[in-house]
Amino acid sequence: MKRNYKTMKKIVFATNNEHKLREIRDILKEKAEVLSLADIGCYVDIAETADTLEGNALIKARYVYENYGYDCFADDTGLEVEALGGAPGVHTARYATDGHDTSANMRKLLAEMKGKTNRKACFRTAIAFIRDGEEHLFSGRVDGYISEEPLGDRGFGYDPVFIPEETGKTFAQLGEEFKNTISHRARAVNKLMEYLNSL
Ligand code: IMP
Repeated sequence: MKRNYKTMKKIVFATNNEHKLREIRDILKEKAEVLSLADIGCYVDIAETADTLEGNALIKARYVYENYGYDCFADDTGLEVEALGGAPGVHTARYATDGHDTSANMRKLLAEMKGKTNRKACFRTAIAFIRDGEEHLFSGRVDGYISEEPLGDRGFGYDPVFIPEETGKTFAQLGEEFKNTISHRARAVNKLMEYLNSL
């Protein structure tokens, strides 16, 4: 029998990041009930050892599927800055230190960008979804610029220094509601959602 995701199938989003969970639950509302790693009692820090965003997303989704048996999706996001040859890319979370230190990451980025006139950058998200053992990949990106200084107090991560094209404001100034209409993650999740709707 065909499973109907429209009648609220439970799927795991392999994260405990509250901001991301809120974003994704909002985007997927009425399509699927999204459980976090904590919701299924998974407290392991799954090592992201691949050298691509897609590879890291697959590692996390496979871990949950293989150990907990839930259909699962995982994401990995990178900020790619043209003037820095695509850095920090797959190292975005640990750009400045090993410890996911957001303020240090932004400080390092702004220091590397000091004096650079080409400030083009993009956020890219890869989503790996495992359904009944089958692996599917979806991606989304948003183009924009790195600001000269942090601006705004909403959002998370690099939101205060990323200005999506044609807005003139950082994600942290624009806020979640608007961000969810154009963001890298929203675009990847929308592709996942189209797939869920087609089942
Ligand atoms: P992750 O792959 O989602 O864990 O993210 C990698 C890095 O990118 C972390 O430093 C996050 O804070 C950052 N990041 C991910 N998504 C966003 C976003 O939507 N805005 C700003 N920073 C983000």
